[in-house]
Amino acid sequence: MPDIMIKAHSVLQKIFGFKDFVSLQAQIIAHVMAGNNALVIMPTGGGKSLCYQIPALLFDGLTIVVSPLISLMTDQIQQMRENGVAAVMLNSALEPGTYRANMAKVKSGTAKLLYVAPETLLKDSLLELLGSIRVDCLAIDEAHCISEWGHDFRPEYRRLTAVREQLPKAVCMALTATATEQVRRDIKNCLGLGENTEFVSGFDRPNLFLEVAFKDNPYRQVLNMIRRHPDQPGIIYCATRKQVDRLALLLTQDGIPALPYHAGLSDVERKGHQERFSKDDVQVMVATIAFGMGIDKSNIRFVIHYDLPKNMESYYQEIGRAGRDGMKARCLLLYSYGDIHKIKFMIGRMNTSRQRTANLLLTTLLRYVETDVCRRRVMLDYFGERYGQETCGMCDNCLATKSAPEDLSVAAQKLLSCVKRTNESFGVEHIIDVLRGSKAQKVLRRGHHRLSTYAIGLEYSRNQWRHLARQLLHKGFMSQDMEYGGLHLTPKAWALFRDQTSFRGFLPAETSIPEEAKKKTSTEAERIPHDPLLFELLRKKRKRLADEAQIPPFVIFSDRTLTEMAARMPRSKESLLQIHGVGQVKERRYGPVFLDIIRRYCDENSISEDRPPAN
Ligand code: ADP
Ligand code: ZN
Repeated sequence: MPDIMIKAHSVLQKIFGFKDFVSLQAQIIAHVMAGNNALVIMPTGGGKSLCYQIPALLFDGLTIVVSPLISLMTDQIQQMRENGVAAVMLNSALEPGTYRANMAKVKSGTAKLLYVAPETLLKDSLLELLGSIRVDCLAIDEAHCISEWGHDFRPEYRRLTAVREQLPKAVCMALTATATEQVRRDIKNCLGLGENTEFVSGFDRPNLFLEVAFKDNPYRQVLNMIRRHPDQPGIIYCATRKQVDRLALLLTQDGIPALPYHAGLSDVERKGHQERFSKDDVQVMVATIAFGMGIDKSNIRFVIHYDLPKNMESYYQEIGRAGRDGMKARCLLLYSYGDIHKIKFMIGRMNTSRQRTANLLLTTLLRYVETDVCRRRVMLDYFGERYGQETCGMCDNCLATKSAPEDLSVAAQKLLSCVKRTNESFGVEHIIDVLRGSKAQKVLRRGHHRLSTYAIGLEYSRNQWRHLARQLLHKGFMSQDMEYGGLHLTPKAWALFRDQTSFRGFLPAETSIPEEAKKKTSTEAERIPHDPLLFELLRKKRKRLADEAQIPPFVIFSDRTLTEMAARMPRSKESLLQIHGVGQVKERRYGPVFLDIIRRYCDENSISEDRPPAN
């Protein structure tokens, strides 16, 4: 191993408290330390920050990090400081006194890392200062903002090209979580990164459990998810502000600390809510998709989409906020035919050129929603990545017990003839109402309770009928009106009536809750078997310390770190340093307090010192 990488490794362990580099970190750091530019594409939570933070500590001169969001900057600076790294920031939100003090630290070389907003970096006074000192690295976070082809173009990012020219000796790193081929090319051209500079790591987030469920009783589905994660943070995304407010209120009334977050709130309210979530003061954030860009919280254990996301790319971004600490997190997407129909209706009113794109985006999303193969495979496929395995074991489809398809011709005939009897003008839900003998007004008013197909489908649950309907649509036995949602029979349906063909498919077990969900009763924040009581003690301590220091708890230690402590129960400084996320500075700062809790707990419970570490 070259010297520089031995040093890099030692910084990783001593400062950050991590054992090994993950994904492409080591290659990227070696590449940058050799003076080469780099374009780094890694999914959210993939570990991009270390790719510039470690070089920053190894270079003699300054490393500049351009970041578009002040809240992200603040979080990162706090985390760096907790690790004992001299990092400062400059942006328009700072008090003049702090701003000047930070400028002085940059000038004197006390600061190794400067986080800066793009518009601040463009200021003459700062550029002048930077021209007079040694700058070794310019890292541009969220680099897709530079491209007009990206989903978040920011004009001030484009002007960074000029800054780059003023700092010709600094290596340049551009980092982003999403970039299509076009955006990548744009970033490289704008910043003059040159060839052979791309590092693309896989998009898979193996610790995210992916599941999709029909919106059966959405509020109950939400409660179920929250109850299996007691006291653990989660986000619920809704399509409208009204829905956000309603859901946040309902949850609060049910004793679950939840806050709304959407564009209808004032800046101050939004900031306040975000801070309280960040500090673990409220458990659940109910939000429109506006929420999330600026959060660095690593212990989010679940993300629920109460409504369909906009498209596959935003879905990936939104669930990307879960489980950044590497521990298991659940991502549940709820959908209904009504939702899909609403979107189709809106698409129908667009002009033709936009219609085509919108339809395409919806189709890819529905492919994910309706698939019965591994969801991870479908998702990665969208990003042009081939998933090596047939099954992932971390999605609902992979866990569902797959049996051979059954002959469901009779059930299919019942459903199709009910479509026929109601004149091919109703959607799936109404058809199921009739089949299951519902006394709903909508059924009675139309006299559908007098049809021969009324109440002939009691042997299956609503959910089972829905599955059946979906398969009939997929296999072309019926089609759905794009505009009104009504079902229509196809020639294949007529062939089935005449027994010229059969229909084979799957029916889910009686309940819509996946098998795996029924078995699990305990919380599953983590796969590491640990002592929950000790974890609680440690968590409470962390919360108290965080409140005193006015920083979010995860800045002190991540959940993963506490979980490992509660599993391995280190009694000495040396063994504490072995725990994930415990570096030298944090050990010095917090080690004694946490060791004290662990020691006392072990004494009280007669747990002996040589307890083997759990794996
Ligand atoms: P990104 O910026 O790519 O979204 P981060 O840099 O914030 O991701 O890293 C995500 C999480 O992974 C953080 O909690 C970080 O502490 C952790 N992490 C990063 N690198 C390592 C590593 N080598 N070993 C263990 N954990 C790591
Ligand atoms: Zn899977």
